[in-house]
Amino acid sequence: MTSPDVPHTEALDPAVLHPRLPSPLEEVADERFARHGVRLLLKRDDLIHPDLVGNKWRKLAPNLRAAAGRPLVTFGGAHSNHLRATAAAGRLLGLGTIGVVRGDELAHRPLNPSLARCAADGMRLHFVDRSTYRRKSEPETLAAILRAADAAEAYVVPEGGSNSLAVHGCLALGEELRGRADVVAVACGTGGTLAGLAAGLAQDQRALGIPVLKGDFLAADTAELQQRTFGARRGTWSLDTRFHFGGYARVPDELGAFAADFESRHGLPVEHLYVAKLLYGLVVLTEEGAIPPGTVLAAVITGSPFPSAPPRVP
Ligand SMILES: *Cc1c(COP(=O)(O)O)cnc(C)c1O
Repeated sequence: MTSPDVPHTEALDPAVLHPRLPSPLEEVADERFARHGVRLLLKRDDLIHPDLVGNKWRKLAPNLRAAAGRPLVTFGGAHSNHLRATAAAGRLLGLGTIGVVRGDELAHRPLNPSLARCAADGMRLHFVDRSTYRRKSEPETLAAILRAADAAEAYVVPEGGSNSLAVHGCLALGEELRGRADVVAVACGTGGTLAGLAAGLAQDQRALGIPVLKGDFLAADTAELQQRTFGARRGTWSLDTRFHFGGYARVPDELGAFAADFESRHGLPVEHLYVAKLLYGLVVLTEEGAIPPGTVLAAVITGSPFPSAPPRVP
């Protein structure tokens, strides 16, 4: 397993960080579900690790092993939970990290709290304009970005962390929920978590994805991630695209109020960019009767708020 030219590989195994796995599964009493005969469970992936929160742990851990001590380079927007998790992993495991950030540097100075945390964790930030960023999966553009970021030798983790290793990492999320729920719902950015979750569930369970970005690309992207990882579509899953609230990082007051109310009912700190949209969607779907009476519904709590107040988007 260890390669002779990369010493200390074992010390870099993320297991040394003592993740809380399997993550806890908790039932909550919420009359918005109970009156429709639905039992609501929270799959507390937000408790896996204080710094590598939620699905970011599941997706990064196999990549950290594969990087085998090389620095990591990855990509994200100014509020990216994935960039923050990668930076934290770098600090905790003593790995170099480089974050390629969408948008001109000037527009990002002073750094927002999320990017400031990345920098404080030792991540070197490299800003690229939006049109270059959009083309980053083209091989020449990627090579040019990596050269400019002085990251030609680094281990590349794609935007949002969703490669086949990450999808494999999320299989365990589904496996932990076998026999525990009928429907498992998760908020989606790239679809990597949904792809692994759905593949890990038992045959009589289904997964439901709530995209937080606007657009109709996610079903194809998720199917493609499963195809690349498993060679075929896996499990039973679907998406409901109605709950993006205007797009990524858009948190209108109504959603903020919903999250605050959920937190006061259940004591769960509700992450706003993903988890609030998921929980809101589940309340609506249950009201609509789309979740049949008798269903045990598990909501995956994929993250925790950062910073404790939601980012303000005009
Ligand atoms: C990154 C993230 C997601 C989205 O995961 P994907 O695998 O990209 O779909 C969901 N919830 C939270 C809290 C996240 O940080």
